[in-house]
Amino acid sequence: MSAGIRSLFRAAYRADPLGVWSAPGRVNLIGEHTDYNDGFVLPFAIDRRTTVALGLRDDNVIRLASTFSDETVSLTLADLDAAVAGGRVTGWAAYPLGVAWALGQLDADLAGARGVDLLIDSDVPVGAGLSSSAAIESAVAVALDEVWALGLDRRTLARVGQHAENAVVGAPTGIMDQSASLLGIRDAAVFLDCRTLETRTIPLDLAPNDLAVLVIDTRVHHSHATGGYRDRRASCEAGAAALGVPALRDLGVDDLSRAEGMLDDVTFRRVRHVVTENARVLSTVDALGSGGPAAIGSLLDASHVSMRDDFEISVPELDLAVSVARENGALGARMTGGGFGGAAIALAPVAELERIGAAVVDAFAGAGFAAPELFPVTASDGARRED
Ligand code: ADP
Ligand code: MG
Repeated sequence: MSAGIRSLFRAAYRADPLGVWSAPGRVNLIGEHTDYNDGFVLPFAIDRRTTVALGLRDDNVIRLASTFSDETVSLTLADLDAAVAGGRVTGWAAYPLGVAWALGQLDADLAGARGVDLLIDSDVPVGAGLSSSAAIESAVAVALDEVWALGLDRRTLARVGQHAENAVVGAPTGIMDQSASLLGIRDAAVFLDCRTLETRTIPLDLAPNDLAVLVIDTRVHHSHATGGYRDRRASCEAGAAALGVPALRDLGVDDLSRAEGMLDDVTFRRVRHVVTENARVLSTVDALGSGGPAAIGSLLDASHVSMRDDFEISVPELDLAVSVARENGALGARMTGGGFGGAAIALAPVAELERIGAAVVDAFAGAGFAAPELFPVTASDGARRED
């Protein structure tokens, strides 16, 4: 992987890079729209990564190129603050430049730091709910942290990526994606308490149980920066305010009957999704510990129903992927990611993957939907230096 990106770097910048860093996308096993409610999530880093080759410069310029786009971007680090404040940092460059800016918010000296040339390449599907955004942020964050000798820990770098995405990209996302991309561990999921940022490694044991997680990318594209995501987040804040709690995390399933009388129907259902989803994450962690991965299927199914009916963030393609996977041998299935498109995941016996895949492809064709993309994922290590 790094040989390829090194030669791309040479072609773009006519010099050798100093090093190559990478960070993975993620699948969220369970816990959707809980992160910005101070709740619980259980993602894992996947074996699809964004790779960054970096060269140090003698001046203060940051230059960016990506195999994702023909556009290249160049500006001085000293100008970065003003460019962000003036809304001049846009498009895909907002992710890497946003990270540089957010690092600068922590360390004012960066305006005078050595410039860098960055070349970005990725095999994380973009806009599929597998967080290509966190992958690019986290890869750039670990690269810059190292070459600028900032010595920041992984939790701080997760905050940096989130700050970039919130303040520069303009997507009001939580801390989950960057945490998974930075803290992921092979063959395990990352349990994250989004209030305390406490993390725990939860072994998945998929392979020893002859199970796999199949991603079904519907190719229906979503955008977090607009519309529904922002709307759902506002409903959660309104629900918490009306119920007099700092965040929906502070409510339990027992509080729902009281909440129902105090909220309008739509807000109540948004709240019910978050409250029950938090409970499902905790149950999933327990079930993995006591019964192994085969024991979590019904929790995945219940999560999907809650997102479809209460949070209303599914689309017909995701519902079809989930139901066909279930009918063809999956132990459980749900949409994953922010919703309104993107991917579903199915937990299935390895022996059934082919049958499920063929059935989903057939069903999509029959429904007149665009062909989905299917691939199994394994839980992988988080961001790292490649060479
Ligand atoms: P997701 O995170 O689900 O893939 P997002 O909309 O959050 O979707 O992020 C996708 C955006 O991130 C892309 O439209 C692009 O702007 C940026 N991005 C992702 N990967 C790359 C890459 N390899 N190079 C440049 N920009 C990228
Ligand atoms: Mg994203």
